[in-house]
Amino acid sequence: MNIGSLLTQAALVFPERAAIVCGETQSSYTEYNGRCNRLANALASLGLRPGDHVGLLMYNCPEMLEAMFACFKAGFGAVPINFRLHPKEFAFIIDHSEARAVIVSPEFDASIAEIRGRIPKVEHIITVSPGPPGELQAYDDLLAGASEQFTDVNRSPDDIAWIFYTSGTTGQSKGAMLTHRNLMAMTWTFYADMVGNFGTDEVDLHAAPLSHGSGLYALPNIARAATNIISDKSFDAEKILQIIETRQVTNFFAAPTMIKRLIDCPAFERYDLGSLRAVMYGGAPMLVDDLTNAMKKLGPCLVQLYGQGEAPMTITYLSHEDHVLDGTPEQMKRLGSAGYARTGVEVGVVDAHDTLLPPGQMGEIVTRSDLVMKGYWNNPQATAETLRNGWLHTGDVGYLDERGYLFLMDRSKDMIISGGENIYPREIEEAIIQHPAVREVAVIGIPDAEWGEAIKAVVALVPGVSATEEELIDFCKEQIASYKKPKSIDFIDELPKNNYGKIVKRELRDRYWSDRRRQV
Ligand code: AMP
Repeated sequence: MNIGSLLTQAALVFPERAAIVCGETQSSYTEYNGRCNRLANALASLGLRPGDHVGLLMYNCPEMLEAMFACFKAGFGAVPINFRLHPKEFAFIIDHSEARAVIVSPEFDASIAEIRGRIPKVEHIITVSPGPPGELQAYDDLLAGASEQFTDVNRSPDDIAWIFYTSGTTGQSKGAMLTHRNLMAMTWTFYADMVGNFGTDEVDLHAAPLSHGSGLYALPNIARAATNIISDKSFDAEKILQIIETRQVTNFFAAPTMIKRLIDCPAFERYDLGSLRAVMYGGAPMLVDDLTNAMKKLGPCLVQLYGQGEAPMTITYLSHEDHVLDGTPEQMKRLGSAGYARTGVEVGVVDAHDTLLPPGQMGEIVTRSDLVMKGYWNNPQATAETLRNGWLHTGDVGYLDERGYLFLMDRSKDMIISGGENIYPREIEEAIIQHPAVREVAVIGIPDAEWGEAIKAVVALVPGVSATEEELIDFCKEQIASYKKPKSIDFIDELPKNNYGKIVKRELRDRYWSDRRRQV
């Protein structure tokens, strides 16, 4: 088995079809497959062998889709890296994953040079920049010297294809190992569930990062020889609307925040979005109000996905048919759910003793299927905690209704989801507490109309010492990725604590969420 064969097959059957479009450049399936083969040969000639890992640190660009499939075909584990992270975090992921090579887009030439000393296991750094300085090797030079003929390496279904680094509650990332079997099962479920909405003439827009959902979402599209449109690195709502109209986009994946920004765009009415068949949203809660607005504006094309890096794209889905504007009270209630189990996927809710609970009872959401990861790379303890009794424990809390619709009520941990990005408070707290004026800090998510949640830090200062909100936010920016810095800071004398002296975050959160439910 090799998940890369999806592309090999698509190129055989649809050689002339447009595979990747980025601005004015376009490549056919023959050209795309040929470039992947060249890269697979080039990496092999550098000494990489099946089972090795390759870090991918790139903004959305055609080379990211090439590098992904070159890794699959050659049997390397691809390690996509969220480009919004801090260089310190790039270094952790690259080093921890034991990547032997890293491929970067030009924007990261400087960052990679900066962290070079912290990634000693890396033997080759390849950049999309032409004529790079020093140790860096030019991507196109490597391709130019390599053959276009390549036979996809036969892999065991349980071999690693993709290592997706999530954040842990301790602030330390964990690498979810996704196998060829996982990604194949993920692809099949799309065809099983998107009946009538996933054809052989798809045009898929990658508006979200390819290192996350949009990259995996490319697989069912590429297998059907869809055209993949790559937009800018930043999310410009009007530009996206323009691309949908001019390129006749049929499907795309987006975080709920992106959907909200699209429909709120003042220029929305100027564009014809009639080509859209499937707009997949997920990765964070979508408030029912926002959802019904989106349904009114985008028409009958919305599908909700609920999943996680450990069981990618997805566990449950709210289908096209479930997105009704004038349904029965029961149907309207289900707009606030994450839908029901995907084909071939089992979903349950368990109590603290791992006993399955009947409908209506709240507990931790668990799942089992061929989509569930093999475990966390080099982290047997976290693997054992998460994969227990044959189930993946999601860390999400919710309940199933009588008909199997899943209602997500809370994240069991204190994770914040802002604009579809998971943010773990501990890491931010670790940064803020280092400021000499800070005595205690707790970071929580508060309601935010645009981002779903915004990061709020609640700080108690050392008596007699002062610090401003701006000063503390700037202090954070020096240490962690900019998108994780608090949007605002409140100062109080003492943080609320329980009898064990632990800060009670729920109590803090209630002050900001008192007038609305925190979750969908
Ligand atoms: P990630 O591993 O980055 O994909 O994040 C997965 C987490 O995002 C899940 O465990 C949920 O807490 C949350 N999530 C994903 N999809 C949804 C959804 N449709 N509704 C609410 N929360 C979601």
